[in-house]
Amino acid sequence: MSFAANVPIPGSTGATFQPQIVVDATRNTVYMAWAATTTAKGTDRYAGHAGLYFPSAMPLRIISASLIILTALSASFAQAPRGIPRELARQRAAQITNVRYRLAFVLIPKAATTSGNEELRFNLKTLQPVVLDFRDGRLVSASVNGATISLKLGNGHLEVPRERLRAGENTIRFRFTVPIAAAGKPLTRFEDHDDGSEYIYSLFVPMDASMAFPCFDQADLKGRFTLELTAPESWTVISNTAVASVAAVDTGQRHTQFAETLPISTYLFAFATGPFRRLPTSPGMPELYVRKSKFDRAQTEAPEVRQIAARGVQYLSDFFAQPFPFPKYDMVLIPGLAYGGMEHAGATFLREESVLFRTAPTHSDLLNRDILVLHELTHQWFGNLVTMRWFDDLWLKEGFAQYMAYQALAALQPEENVWKRFYESIKPDAYAIDSTKGTTPIYQEIPNLEDAKSAYGAIVYSKAPAVLKQLAFVLGAEKFRQGLQLYLKEHAYGNAEWNDLVHAFERVSGRPLDNWAEMWIRHRGMPQVEVSWSCEGNHLSELSLSQHDVLGSADVWPLAMQLGLNYVNRDPVLMRVDLNGKTLEVPNLKRADCPSFIFANEEDYAYGRFLLDPRSREAAVRQLGEVHDLFRRTLLGGSLWDSVRTAELAPEDYLALALKLVPAEADETLARSVLSHSATALHRYVSPATRSKYVPQFEALAAERMSQATDRDLRIVWFRGLAAIAETPEGLARSKEILNGRLSVPGVELRPLDRWNVVTALVAHGDPEAEAILASEKKRDPTGDGQKYAYVAEAARHERAVKQRYFKDFSQNPSRPEDWIEQALYAFNYWNQSELTAPYLQDALEALPQIKRERKIFFLVDWLTAFIDGQQSPASRAQVYAYLESGGIDDDLRLKILQSVDELDRTVAIRQKFPN
Ligand SMILES: [Zn+2]
Repeated sequence: MSFAANVPIPGSTGATFQPQIVVDATRNTVYMAWAATTTAKGTDRYAGHAGLYFPSAMPLRIISASLIILTALSASFAQAPRGIPRELARQRAAQITNVRYRLAFVLIPKAATTSGNEELRFNLKTLQPVVLDFRDGRLVSASVNGATISLKLGNGHLEVPRERLRAGENTIRFRFTVPIAAAGKPLTRFEDHDDGSEYIYSLFVPMDASMAFPCFDQADLKGRFTLELTAPESWTVISNTAVASVAAVDTGQRHTQFAETLPISTYLFAFATGPFRRLPTSPGMPELYVRKSKFDRAQTEAPEVRQIAARGVQYLSDFFAQPFPFPKYDMVLIPGLAYGGMEHAGATFLREESVLFRTAPTHSDLLNRDILVLHELTHQWFGNLVTMRWFDDLWLKEGFAQYMAYQALAALQPEENVWKRFYESIKPDAYAIDSTKGTTPIYQEIPNLEDAKSAYGAIVYSKAPAVLKQLAFVLGAEKFRQGLQLYLKEHAYGNAEWNDLVHAFERVSGRPLDNWAEMWIRHRGMPQVEVSWSCEGNHLSELSLSQHDVLGSADVWPLAMQLGLNYVNRDPVLMRVDLNGKTLEVPNLKRADCPSFIFANEEDYAYGRFLLDPRSREAAVRQLGEVHDLFRRTLLGGSLWDSVRTAELAPEDYLALALKLVPAEADETLARSVLSHSATALHRYVSPATRSKYVPQFEALAAERMSQATDRDLRIVWFRGLAAIAETPEGLARSKEILNGRLSVPGVELRPLDRWNVVTALVAHGDPEAEAILASEKKRDPTGDGQKYAYVAEAARHERAVKQRYFKDFSQNPSRPEDWIEQALYAFNYWNQSELTAPYLQDALEALPQIKRERKIFFLVDWLTAFIDGQQSPASRAQVYAYLESGGIDDDLRLKILQSVDELDRTVAIRQKFPN
């Protein structure tokens, strides 16, 4: 047996190491030492050694390589590696059971830390050292099974030596302090500038519980938590379970104990405290909490949130054949929450701004809110009741929550065109990543939990639900549902992996799904489907389909789709087609009447790029205005936009078509997406000359529709369109008239953020009155939100010194809340300011490793996209690729950059092909 092979180190990405055996005879220990070579710049994160105890009489030669590798990883981490390597997690999950945490925190207003007390009990199968995770904060004292012990923190771990432990039950007690801050910590303080009050909440996903207390911070070591909080008596406290007891402890402080939870993963444990108020309780409804300064608004605007959640509980319990899995369900509105929502078991946190809208909401905005509520609710089953074993299966919870949110909404609101909405909201994000060189499979290897953040993104949130929609089409609705039921039943309160789910579908359907799973779950990328056809006389004489990988590999995906032959003035002919190979003749449609165009993905069951062939595209452009079926019209419009993005259709042709059709478009979301595509074409793809030809037309149209459209939602859409597109003095004058009240959007009361968005655009365009307007808007809206939006608006200033100041603030001000920065990134990189922002591209790229370490999950992609999308030139594109080639970035960041640079690639390619 030889050690010559390079063995990947847990936690490394692309690192290799050459282990050596070192025998320490005095301690009867074999050390496996390694020197790692990693691509990480300047760091050697994995150098270290792991020890293995063996009886001294054992001849070394019989110790096999595999034994050494396994036991070295599982036994003693003399210096445990950073993060949580998968092997450590596996070893702990195999040895540790019956975990119980009793946690007590004392929360003092304005204090920079909290002191914690913990009693951790667990069973150990065989006697061995135990590694706990504790990554931030200070350990004050520890005792193991009653005896005080001095534990050293190393690389975010506490190692408890075996001689202090016993096989069977163990109890460890800790006293510690951990930080509370406005940003960058899992215990976040929010200061309400409107009334001076303070809120503290936890947010641990994916592995930040270990920044708040010592624990086994992995999803498959579920524990039962008993939480005690000591906090000011005027504060409300909310956690996963109901309050069990309350006692006054000291002047002004109160001690609350919560009931013990069912087994849950550490990332699902949470609490929120502060002067929250609860909406008046009504029977059968989940509770909803809101900070006290927003209570009045919540009373009028948020009751529907509870209703949709209550209806969702009924629907999902029935659909899954599993009652709601936890003893209660609360929703807590958190201002500036880093995510739309977080599904803590029994206590979902929702971003306040996603519920209490800062802009005048349209019907579609309200439905998006329903989707958010149903998404988080679905997680109580998918994610909380059954949890993925490891974050490489993140899609198991996110894909399903997203898919089931739409499925539930389609059942609860059948009058809404929900699957059209799914196509508009979900598919573009998925395709936008999946057609780039930076794309990943749905199942993503995560060797170390510290890389789990990188699994988050459109592939799990958008591709996975899209692929599930395809699977439901392949299996049929009933088998699909039975598969889900079986999966949830078999793994309730436990953990599962993707193949558990695939096997459940195989068992109920009797169909082998290995190839399907291999290509859709384990494989990256997507197909482009082409239709080739011709007619002889009035009949179709040839019809075939083919597919190819958009990235050019030879891969072939199993696809099932609804093909449509479309005619002028009569219903299309639809037919299900399975394309499992590279090409397919569709003989049974031969002799059909010659269609005017063919679209291969009617009703959007399949996942892939479906462009129209040239003949169909011409016909579709001609006929689009007469396509009455809204879903079909939306799909064709989307396909034409895809043709622009693949540089097959001139962006100017799209603009001309949009100007012709969108004035009469009665559907809010379709009008909105056409306007948003038009803005992209104007700001990125066409020449300045073409832009100045089209912008005045869009401005005039938007101003007219904003006041004349019969539908209120459409008037809002056009108002937003005007704010986004206006750039001529006439267009900006209209924007200013909206602010000063000389122009209005009939029947719509504009909200503060509507006004601030207009102000930001005026500032970005350097309107001569912008500074005066900004100053008066600050006076008009001095609220906490107003301060944030003023910060955003000022980031759009066309001044070198301002950009410099903001960039420094983004990267060096620890008290700047993350959501302020996230919102300001777009204004900083306003589309017309490439020249000013280009000097920051390099710094923005170099900041990525630090951002990845320190910021919440979605921050990195927001950052990267804003800085790259701010640029449009071949020179900036070259700069990004030069950075990619400079080495020193990890694979994960490389992929993220390749994802983000795709839009810049396309911009450059489109401009080259269509220079006018
Ligand atoms: Zn989710």
